[in-house]
Amino acid sequence: MQMEQVDVVVIGAGAVGLAVAAMLAEAGRDVIIVEAGPAIGMVTSARNSEVIHAGIYYPEGSLKARLCVEGRQALYAWCAARGVTARKVGKLIVATDDAEAAALDGLHRKAAANGVDLLRLSGAQAMAMEPALSCVAALQSPETGIIDSHGLMLSYLGVAEDHGAMLALNTPVLSGAAEADGIRLDCGGAEPMTLKARVVVNCAGLWAQRVSQSIAGVDPASVPPLSLAKGNYFDLTTAPPFRTLVYPVPVNGGLGVHYTVDMGGRGRFGPDVEWLDHADPDRVDYQVAPRRGDVFYDAVRRYWPGLPDGALAPGYAGCRPKPHPVRAAAEDFMVQTPSQTGVDGLFTLYGIESPGLTASLALGRLVTGYVAEA
Ligand SMILES: Cc1cc2nc3c(=O)[nH]c(=O)nc-3n(C[C@H](O)[C@H](O)[C@H](O)COP(=O)(O)OP(=O)(O)OC[C@H]3O[C@@H](n4cnc5c(N)ncnc54)[C@H](O)[C@@H]3O)c2cc1C
Repeated sequence: MQMEQVDVVVIGAGAVGLAVAAMLAEAGRDVIIVEAGPAIGMVTSARNSEVIHAGIYYPEGSLKARLCVEGRQALYAWCAARGVTARKVGKLIVATDDAEAAALDGLHRKAAANGVDLLRLSGAQAMAMEPALSCVAALQSPETGIIDSHGLMLSYLGVAEDHGAMLALNTPVLSGAAEADGIRLDCGGAEPMTLKARVVVNCAGLWAQRVSQSIAGVDPASVPPLSLAKGNYFDLTTAPPFRTLVYPVPVNGGLGVHYTVDMGGRGRFGPDVEWLDHADPDRVDYQVAPRRGDVFYDAVRRYWPGLPDGALAPGYAGCRPKPHPVRAAAEDFMVQTPSQTGVDGLFTLYGIESPGLTASLALGRLVTGYVAEA
């Protein structure tokens, strides 16, 4: 079997792994990206809302808050410079009763603490903007947008490759070990190979814990628990009711059943939060059960009473890697450096759920800074 000495290996070619690879390659590192699948971005990065989040919901000082705001600004600039389609369509967070209106005040304060500007609207103002809407108050986020996530990933790969990075598809990391002269990674696939790297960045998304557990020398106490929360979408089969994105007041574990549009202008609702009773990413069933639609109709009609019967069709689903037990309170992104993983040169990202797409460039820059310091 081949044994190759390399500078940096990035494990996983989702939006985050590709952004990390692009930033590291731009900084002059020799990067190999190893991806288990047959193409880039086929897992969580292909199964999300493609929303560029403003940075409203996250606790002040958290990585999510900081990297969402930094990442959003960097992302709009990146897309403008590289011809990736992104549109600032804005968003409304709508309250449908007085208790929710009071909750908007808390969200408004949280956003301000994170450096995000929102406008408070009366119900009448919001409904004048969006006549199909029903609400008693709203917050408007002008900075929220939508993005062509596959175009974004191709642009990350392009920049990485322009700076000498190589992508190995169908190349799952099966095991590894911390050794005196670097980190050994044993890769499977059609052409199995062994890599010996000075630096490894584990961006394996839902499999990040499994990859860590397969590398001898990783401190077992550094690997957080994993629980999986599936998010189901329903497609709207009628004309889009709104020009902007519409979100209810958030619920535990997710942002509530919200309305987004894809790049083609088609509307969809979701994702909901379905906690899975196992933590095996290989067993996630991405089919959307039609019966979940009943809950969607009720949730959506709170802010869009005109939703016609039969207008929702099961769409796609994604899965959130939660770095904590099922239904525990939301946790932050985790970016571990060698002092935490216990292995020289090993950096690991856990719990990169939403807003990971928005924060991808900022995560790439953060990791690149850590690697430079190490
Ligand atoms: C339902 C849902 C909606 C979301 N909506 C938004 C949104 O609107 N806006 C936003 O900013 N964020 C959103 N997110 C979050 C965003 O999609 C993710 O944070 C982001 O896509 C994560 O990218 P990633 O590269 O970490 O993971 P992934 O895209 O899953 O990539 C990980 C890659 O690692 C590979 N891999 C795994 N194991 C191995 C191995 N052993 N060897 C080699 N390769 C391996 C996998 O094949 C995969 O390609 C949403 C997430 C979900 C679930």
